[in-house]
Amino acid sequence: MEIYNFSLDNSKPNRLFPCPDCLQRTFKRYWDNFKNEYFPDEDVGRCNREFNCGCHNSPKQFFEKNGLDYPKNEVPKLSLPKPKPPTTYIDTSWVEKSMNRPIPNYFIDYIKRLFGEKITNDLINKFRIGTSKHWKGATVFWQIDQDFKVRSGKIMLYNSQIGKRVEFRDDWVHTVAKLKNFTIGQCFFGLHQLAENSTKTIGIVESQKSAVILTAINPNLLWLSSGGVYGVQIERFKPLKDRKIILYPDAGIEKDGKGTPFQKWSKRADELNQSGFEVSVSKLVENAATDEQRIKGYDLVDYYTMIDQNGQSVLNKNAINT
Ligand SMILES: [Zn+2]
Repeated sequence: MEIYNFSLDNSKPNRLFPCPDCLQRTFKRYWDNFKNEYFPDEDVGRCNREFNCGCHNSPKQFFEKNGLDYPKNEVPKLSLPKPKPPTTYIDTSWVEKSMNRPIPNYFIDYIKRLFGEKITNDLINKFRIGTSKHWKGATVFWQIDQDFKVRSGKIMLYNSQIGKRVEFRDDWVHTVAKLKNFTIGQCFFGLHQLAENSTKTIGIVESQKSAVILTAINPNLLWLSSGGVYGVQIERFKPLKDRKIILYPDAGIEKDGKGTPFQKWSKRADELNQSGFEVSVSKLVENAATDEQRIKGYDLVDYYTMIDQNGQSVLNKNAINT
């Protein structure tokens, strides 16, 4: 959209002045859109008697006639920010379908090795974990919001033995399904659980895998995943406004000049707290991590599943609320 410096005064009812040529009261003056007043010279305008008179003195002619520069620098190209198109949702039936595929799901195989059949089935139902045909053994982590609307799903591939991600095997459901004009509005993975429980403290970790495993290890918290270190936009916290929130950033080193994961999430927590949220950042991982573990990006689950020389988990699970 462009706004011109001057345009004919089109206010209603028409304000007409005597025409400098035919002298009839049929003359429309120019309006200065920036000063919000008439063009100062009253002879600059256009006569409504287009055929019988035809008088038209434009601002451009006025500046030329008087040897003045047209105030070009005042013509701003006002482009309004494009409104974000509304979020697209995926039909819930896709989630159901993905949960009923009788094909391998390596992430689920891994969880079964850790917790057994029953707990695994509880976790699958709680997080609505799906299976994808995209790669053999692939998992779908659906992003379902607090109103049970499906925002999209992340398809990932894990190793069933050690539960580590297979590199470069990560894609969106809407991309793979080639959905046209899809506008993604991401939410935290696991957000739909808010409706089940209104009092639990919210624990936010980076990976979907960790949110699922921590739910089995410590169900006192309601676990969500941001999908990565950058997934903690203020917008995504809105449904969590009245909840106590603890962030559990991964161990990490600074890679982008914006601090370590701990520093990034601490900054975000400060911003949220200034907006009336109740957010703290756990130092458990930060305090436990060696330099090597920082480089490898260890997270809370890595410390739980790490056994010390006495056969004990390195982290006491009772320490998790801090
Ligand atoms: Zn006229």
